[in-house]
Amino acid sequence: MTAEGTVAGLVSAAVIEVIEFVNPHRALAQATLGPDAALQELMDGNKRFAAERPTAFEHDLAILKQHTLEKQEPFAAVLSCADSRVPVELVFDQTIGHIFVTRIAGNIATSEIIASLEYGAGVLGAKVILVMGHGGCGAIKATIQAKEVPGQISALYPHIQPAVDQTGPNLEAATKANAKMQAALLRQASTVISGLVKENKLKVAAAYYDISTGIVTLLV
Ligand SMILES: [Zn+2]
Repeated sequence: MTAEGTVAGLVSAAVIEVIEFVNPHRALAQATLGPDAALQELMDGNKRFAAERPTAFEHDLAILKQHTLEKQEPFAAVLSCADSRVPVELVFDQTIGHIFVTRIAGNIATSEIIASLEYGAGVLGAKVILVMGHGGCGAIKATIQAKEVPGQISALYPHIQPAVDQTGPNLEAATKANAKMQAALLRQASTVISGLVKENKLKVAAAYYDISTGIVTLLV
């Protein structure tokens, strides 16, 4: 390494130290957060987003990239819909390395999604998994209508149908029921996730994102 490279590296390291000192939650926050605090961090980020006062863009992306080259320690995982109006990092005012995101139409817990979230929580150590449905969800709407769709799109329906059976054809009610059911499925179907929940190392919660207000509401 050249002298210049060494100096640049030292400066970057010093800057990272300063960031962690000034705002310990913003860099590698995972080790200091419990499941409740991790969920609160997400909800606080959403408050900033909904109030149009996000802070994530203030972070130096070059530093964050460098800081996460060797490892990632996301404090939270999110299972959200693939819908383009649900940009997860923006909605929670987060940046590189903070959240482990899985997205699939209808935010359903398929076995591949469960596998991914097991990795996020069991290996990477995320402290909360938030399953988030959203307003105007096309996958839920199509399931309610049992719509004829091209290709393999209808493969989503069986995953969502139990929620529709429970609530009837009300889109918002079915979307909220689906988020809660997928969260329950994660807790039950995965021994990795249920084990961490039992040890109080992980929390699995459900939420609803209102695309008109930008507000995320926890579902209980
Ligand atoms: Zn959707």
